[in-house]
Amino acid sequence: MPPIESPLSKGYNSLHWRRTHAAQVKFWYKQRLLTPFLMSLLVVGSIAYDTIETPLAKRDNVLGGSAPFFAYAAGFFCPVQMVGVVGADWLPEYTEMFRKQGVDTAGIEIVPDGKTFRWSGKYHKNMNDRDTLETQLNVLGTFQPKLPENYRRSQFVFIGNGAPSTGLAVLEQLQGADLVVADTMNLWINTTRPDLDALMKRIDGLVINDSEAMLLTGEINTVVAARRVLTMGPKFVIVKKGEHGAMFVSEYETYVIPAFPVENVVDPTGAGDSFAGGLMGYIASQQGNLDGETIKNALVYGTITASVGIEGFSFDRYKGITRSDIDERRETFRKMTSF
Ligand code: AMP
Repeated sequence: MPPIESPLSKGYNSLHWRRTHAAQVKFWYKQRLLTPFLMSLLVVGSIAYDTIETPLAKRDNVLGGSAPFFAYAAGFFCPVQMVGVVGADWLPEYTEMFRKQGVDTAGIEIVPDGKTFRWSGKYHKNMNDRDTLETQLNVLGTFQPKLPENYRRSQFVFIGNGAPSTGLAVLEQLQGADLVVADTMNLWINTTRPDLDALMKRIDGLVINDSEAMLLTGEINTVVAARRVLTMGPKFVIVKKGEHGAMFVSEYETYVIPAFPVENVVDPTGAGDSFAGGLMGYIASQQGNLDGETIKNALVYGTITASVGIEGFSFDRYKGITRSDIDERRETFRKMTSF
């Protein structure tokens, strides 16, 4: 029997993803008939109070963490469900900020006698490299995610930076998501490798920094490292290269994109998560289509959301920014890069 034609199956074919006929029927049915009800993007990750020092300024205990940066950026494109944990020091004004951005915070657990995760970092003069000064896991250290019932049908899932065991616990509770992408970093690569390896086998895509891709694989060339990641489970990998842009690699496709040139970099914290948020938010808004055009547009939107966020500390720059501002910068970027 010939495969059922749908824009989605074409997209997945471009990644050479093989589906059984039954799975294609289920997928097509969900896509065509249920998408308006089911289209949702779930993120799980750290929620933090960050202390950031740059060569020009310092801020104490500002909102950060992988889940907030991802969720806010993705909120420009689609509804988002955020899963994470905070302590009694969580400020209700943040819940309100996310609500306004279309982010559902019912998945945030508040531990009444706990303290929110804290991270502090200091940027070098180039504003690209940084040193972690302190990591206090606090409530994140014992976090056991429990998804609200309506989160379990999420089609698109992003497992942000955090213990890989948390990502695995979330995947156990999902009713079979269509696209699962994860991020990771040196702390987890160095300390929880068996869990990370298990997680890698259950994800479709990995978004990772160039230096972390090298740490993960032992390779010194980013393209070789990306190819090595593909042997560990994911069907595609996106390597983030800071101010040098990003690269998408699957078995048969490679796309590269420069970074948007930002003159006024104030605080690069969260750029990677905002990049992933714009990227996944756009893919979810296209119902998970993964054809080449959609992937390239998703890389562009990720690049744009990241470039906006780094122009201010924490979430400062996002205030007042709308989807049309994002699209305006996208147009500027298009003119810069088309040839
Ligand atoms: P990025 O700049 O995209 O790497 O993201 C930085 C954010 O990650 C900060 O807001 C931190 O709170 C958070 N973060 C730092 N270290 C960790 C960690 N070990 N696990 C989870 N999140 C972290």
